[in-house]
Amino acid sequence: MSLEDYKGIAEPGELRAIECIAGKLKGRTMLHVNSTAVGGGVAELLQRMVPLIKELGVDVRWSVIKGTKPFFEVTKNLHNALQGQGRQLTKKEWDLWEEVNRKNAEKVDLDADCVFIHDPQPALLIDSKKRGVWVWRCHIDISTPDKTTWYFLKREVDKYDAAIFSVARFAQATPIPQFTMPPSIDPLSEKNIELTNEEVREVYERFKIPMGKPVLLQVSRFDKFKDPLGVIDAFRLARKYNDCSLVLAGGTAIDDPEGAKILKEVREKAAGNPDIHILLLPPFSDREINALQRGATIVLQKSLREGFGLVVTEALWKKKPVIAGDVGGIPLQVIDGVTGYLVHSVEGCAYRIRQLLQNPELGLRLGENGKEHIRRNFLITGHIKNYLALWVATECKGDKVIYL
Ligand code: UDP
Repeated sequence: MSLEDYKGIAEPGELRAIECIAGKLKGRTMLHVNSTAVGGGVAELLQRMVPLIKELGVDVRWSVIKGTKPFFEVTKNLHNALQGQGRQLTKKEWDLWEEVNRKNAEKVDLDADCVFIHDPQPALLIDSKKRGVWVWRCHIDISTPDKTTWYFLKREVDKYDAAIFSVARFAQATPIPQFTMPPSIDPLSEKNIELTNEEVREVYERFKIPMGKPVLLQVSRFDKFKDPLGVIDAFRLARKYNDCSLVLAGGTAIDDPEGAKILKEVREKAAGNPDIHILLLPPFSDREINALQRGATIVLQKSLREGFGLVVTEALWKKKPVIAGDVGGIPLQVIDGVTGYLVHSVEGCAYRIRQLLQNPELGLRLGENGKEHIRRNFLITGHIKNYLALWVATECKGDKVIYL
């Protein structure tokens, strides 16, 4: 995969900007550090991004810190507390966090011109900084953190040269320069690449979903904040007037008791309705998700609380009108009446479903707008451009004003 492959997909100006900035950074060293090589959005993004940056002539490396099970339990708690949902760490837990970071600092080669540390788990590596610009890249929502937990982390974050947050609203005040950088999708990944109609049809046949009538789709974990029960209620209301089916597709949630409970409730609520299809997708179902999204008439994401909502990005990229909850990063993507509709209730959701089912032309228009909106703002190429530009900008700190 190289930048060439994105010609005709990404904004031409964006590709030129990448080449131009990368030209100035050729042969220089960039390092990304996070806490997992597979699973989760951060790892997925780095897997796609690092080879592309390397192709540009930047000497980029990606290292993953190693930790024990208790360490990851501590950092999971840290993560939850920062999102305002967990308990505070004990002194012993903070010490473990420090110790594991210290050990990793001895093993990971931290020597680079520009270092991106992703999320809180490896944040303490900053204490081993020798040189270069160091950027803390926060992917989580820390807008309403547990105050004490944030205070501890902030002492570390303040030592960085800059911080990046995904959405302005997810950020906290820090004395260091802050940047917002939304997450992105890769249009050439299995989940987003163009598929043939045959392949889409084959997946629908495999899942026994009829394609002869409109399909409403929600792809998400079985989680109460994704409101799958509300989706069924909205579907039922709309179904009284328009023939259509509903597909709720999500992961298996074997190790998530809460997920299993929600799945059971969803199944009970949908029982006996042949128009509702509940799909349990195994991990690595990217191509199936791609096909389901491409075959859908309308994509729903009726979240009550949300991070950024990458499923919305994926659906808009596939020219689907999206009806979604007005929460988290969704309103950055769903521009009401332009790329889809923002809803605040079951009734509102049902109303918009009916409106779109009765106006296929409207759905097509919103879908076109949606794809363009994602192309301009939320593709991996823009994300790479932002990382490179931020590197240059941070090195110029204290210099004259620079325009990017
Ligand atoms: N996803 C998946 N399998 C599933 C459900 C979701 O691969 O069974 C993917 C989905 O396509 C998207 C991501 O997981 O890329 C979910 O990201 P999002 O930001 O929408 O929600 P989160 O689950 O992170 O709250």
